[in-house]
Amino acid sequence: MTPFSYTCPKTVEEAVRAFTQTPDARFIGGGTNLLDLMKMGVERPAQLIDINRLPLTSIEERKGGVRIGALVSNTAAANHHFIRTRYPVLTQAILAGASQQLRNMATMGGNLLQRTRCYYFYDPSYSECNKRVPGSGCAAIHGYNRIHAILGQSEQCIAVHPSDMCVALAALDAEIQVQGPNGERSIPMTEFHRLPGNTPQTETNLQPGELITAIDLPAISYARRSYYLKARDRHSYAFALVSVAAILDVDAQGKIQEARIALGGVAMKPWRAKQVEKQLAGKKPDDENLLAAADAELRDAHGYEYNSFKIELARRCIRRAVNEALSRAV
Ligand code: SF4
Repeated sequence: MTPFSYTCPKTVEEAVRAFTQTPDARFIGGGTNLLDLMKMGVERPAQLIDINRLPLTSIEERKGGVRIGALVSNTAAANHHFIRTRYPVLTQAILAGASQQLRNMATMGGNLLQRTRCYYFYDPSYSECNKRVPGSGCAAIHGYNRIHAILGQSEQCIAVHPSDMCVALAALDAEIQVQGPNGERSIPMTEFHRLPGNTPQTETNLQPGELITAIDLPAISYARRSYYLKARDRHSYAFALVSVAAILDVDAQGKIQEARIALGGVAMKPWRAKQVEKQLAGKKPDDENLLAAADAELRDAHGYEYNSFKIELARRCIRRAVNEALSRAV
C-alpha cells in the first residue's frame, strides 16, 4: 500500500478544510470499499481524513420525512423503526446488499460513493480501463462483461453502479445533503451519480472537498406499498445482475395513480425508469400493461457478448417487482 498521512477532525468544517489543504485526500468512514481499493493499488490517497468523530450519526424526523446522518451504519438505518415502517423498500434494499459484517461497518454516506465492481477496474494488471487510467481504453467492452451495463453506457465505459441502497433512494427521490468549501447544498439523488460519457473517472456531481452530511427522505404517503427485487447469481453476498425498487400509489379500483420505479445493475447510476412510470400511470397493472411499460423503458437497451440476457431479465424483474409491491398493504 502506498504511504499516506492521516487526520481525524472533530467538526465538518475541519474535515472540509483538511481536504482542501491536501491534494489527493479522501474522506474515510467505514472504509469497506476504499481500503480494498487502496490494497489493490487502485486508490492511492496522499491523506485519509477519518470522519468517524463527526456528529453525523442520528436518524430524525424532518419536514414530515426522515433525515439519516451520513455516518449511520447501513445496519442501523435498515433496522430503524422509521425506516422499517415508513420506507420498507429502503430496508429491503440495504439488507439485500453485502454481508451482515460489512453492513455493520459501512456508512450511508459511504454506500453512495461505492465504486463499480468491474473486474478490470479492480485489477491494475489490466492496462485498459478508462475509469482507472483515463484514455487507456475499456477492457470490458470486448472482454468478460456479464455484470456490465445495458443502459446509459458509453464507448468509454460500460460499468454499473453496485449499490442496492442507492436504487431505493432513487425511487424515493431522496436528497443528498453536502457541505463543502463553498457552504452547504442539497443534491437530488437522481442527479447525484453521473453516466460515464467521456469522463468515466468522474462518478458523482460532488465538487472537490464536498462531504456528504445526510440523506433526506421525503414524506410519501404510499411508500409502504413497495418492494425491492434483486436478481443475482448467489442468494447472498452478491451484486445485482438486475434489481428493481418499486413504490406504488394505487386507487380503490386497482389502477396505478403514481409509480416510482428505479433499476439497479443496469447502468452506472441508479436508473429511474421514467418510461415505466409514465406508461403505468392511470392503468391497471395487468401483465400486458406491465410488459409494455418495461419494453418502453428498455427500447434503447444494448447488451454485449455476455450480458444481453439482462435485457429480458430486467423486463421480467420490472413486472415481478410491481406485482410484489401491489401485494403490500399501505
Ligand atoms: Fe474500466 Fe469501465 Fe471499462 Fe470496466 S467498464 S474496464 S471500469 S472503463
